[in-house]
Amino acid sequence: MFNKKTIDDINVAGKKVLVRCDFNVPLKDGKITDDNRIVAVLPTLKKLLDGNGRLILCSHLGKPKEGYDPKLSLAPVAVRLSELLGKEVKFAADPEVVGPNAKEAVANMKDGDVILLENTRFRKEETKNIDEFSKDLASLCEVYVNDAFGTAHRAHCSNVGVTQYVDTAVVGYLMQKEIEFLGNAVNDPKRPFVAIMGGAKISDKLEVIDNLLEKCDTLIIGGGMAYTFLKAQGKEIGKSLVDDEKLEYCADMIKKAAEKGKKLLLPVDVAAADAFPDPIDAPVDVEIFSVDAIPADKMGLDIGPETMKLYSEALKDAKTIVWNGPMGVFENPGLVKGTFAVAEAMADADAVKVIGGGDSAAAVNKLGLADKMSLVSTGGGASLEFLSGKVLPGVEAAQDK
Ligand code: ATP
Repeated sequence: MFNKKTIDDINVAGKKVLVRCDFNVPLKDGKITDDNRIVAVLPTLKKLLDGNGRLILCSHLGKPKEGYDPKLSLAPVAVRLSELLGKEVKFAADPEVVGPNAKEAVANMKDGDVILLENTRFRKEETKNIDEFSKDLASLCEVYVNDAFGTAHRAHCSNVGVTQYVDTAVVGYLMQKEIEFLGNAVNDPKRPFVAIMGGAKISDKLEVIDNLLEKCDTLIIGGGMAYTFLKAQGKEIGKSLVDDEKLEYCADMIKKAAEKGKKLLLPVDVAAADAFPDPIDAPVDVEIFSVDAIPADKMGLDIGPETMKLYSEALKDAKTIVWNGPMGVFENPGLVKGTFAVAEAMADADAVKVIGGGDSAAAVNKLGLADKMSLVSTGGGASLEFLSGKVLPGVEAAQDK
């Protein structure tokens, strides 16, 4: 049961509603290259507009070093959002975020108007959760809505501090959906529950692996992190990515899985090349090797065909699947097969299917398989922390108010 107040529990007619969105979208030469995060918040915005609220939207974008940086302005988002909503979204160009321009724009709002504030991280207080900016943000509104799951693992002014200074703080539909699906997957999964972990940053994913082994029935490991597990089993992994400090941890996880009667699946073959492609999408000569025969001068960069079969088979009868991190260097067309195979097997499975954001979400979106998933999380880091059993400050702050 979802136990937080949501936008369904409040009346916003005629009220100024500050909505913390996650508009942290990728930009290239000032153009948005992936608008999934903008699309994801539309149901919340439409509901609030149907309720005749006055919407003041805020978000961070990237990591500005010192205050205002025109390259990280949210202006392009206002344009795209306008197109998607089919109505004007006024951009409150204000280097102080809540400065004279923003205040004036808010003062002139009518019911059903939408304003987007400038990048919250242009204020140095934002990431330090310093009261001054929290108060500034709160002064603009009567109601606060948090729909930025992607930032929920951070305690910043715009998602945590501000809630202290408003009378009503609730979550939006996106936040609600992310919490419900991720929460059910880890706390009350339909079984068999299969978790798939990939990607390169094993140290970031340590706690998740430990926690998932408690909850899941099968844990599948792929991507760069698999080689530390293979080395921990005493295998020769050539020049493949390895985190030597984590060998003992991986050995412990292998032992833990065996003790708990959980299946821990590791690659049985790999697609390897002489070196990491440079640039990342450069053509590569790929050869397939068994994990018992990886040559010393080769680097494993994707799972091999036998592993794809093994992993796809394990996903067939699953009733809950959680996936975080690609199976190989999926940015390269020659090394994307493993990631696609897992995405396709997942799409075919009759299960609750959760993609934990980041690169696996990018791969699923690229394949056009997002519709076949129950949830493609907008927050890689936040979903990882959630899956590792942590309480997210952004989720805690916006509730029951
Ligand atoms: P995010 O942090 O964006 O949520 P993620 O959780 O999807 O990302 P990361 O741990 O960041 O995953 O790892 C993704 C990266 O791992 C990709 O850039 C991919 O190229 C790289 N990768 C996957 N397999 C390998 C491999 N065998 N060797 C080296 N790098 C790999």
